[in-house]
Amino acid sequence: MSFTITCPICGKRDLYEFRFGGEERGARPDYENLTPQNWCDYVHLRTNRPGPQREWWFHRDGCGRWFTVWRDPMTNRETASSEATR
Ligand SMILES: [Zn+2]
Repeated sequence: MSFTITCPICGKRDLYEFRFGGEERGARPDYENLTPQNWCDYVHLRTNRPGPQREWWFHRDGCGRWFTVWRDPMTNRETASSEATR
C-alpha cells in the first residue's frame, strides 16, 4: 500500500520518491550533562506510540531537501503541513 508525502518545495508526491528519516527526537542531550545512559536513550529509544508523530523525510527523487511531516502511522495520512528545515 502506498501513500503520499507533501514536500514543502515540490508538493504532494508518491511515497517512493522519499526516504524515511525516523521520528523527530528533538535536540541532542546537552554535552555538559551527558551520561552514557541519556546518550543511549537518545540514540536508541523511540516512542513508538499510536497516533500522529513528527517525522523526518528526505525527498530523494526530487529537490533533495530534508523536512518534517506530522503523520499518523496508523492511517499513513499526514495530519499537518510539512516544514522545510535544511
Ligand atoms: Zn521536494
